[in-house]
Amino acid sequence: MPIYDYLCRECGHEFEGLVRKELEIPDCPSCNGSDLEQLLSMPSVHSEARKERSMRAARTRDKVQAKEREYTQRQYELNHDD
Ligand SMILES: [Zn+2]
Repeated sequence: MPIYDYLCRECGHEFEGLVRKELEIPDCPSCNGSDLEQLLSMPSVHSEARKERSMRAARTRDKVQAKEREYTQRQYELNHDD
């Protein structure tokens, strides 16, 4: 079943909708509106390499952020030792 990205024109909510039947359009989960715009998704095959690269970059970024969080948490515990 294909999953499409939709943008609700009524409330601006963006969501992924599972389309069971062709031409079936889901309702906005945020406001129940049906004035939706189907967003074009990237062709997955061609963007695979790019996705892999950006995922690796994101993972590195997450690791750095996790380390920073850990440090902040430790500092917090040191300063609030009761
Ligand atoms: Zn909406």
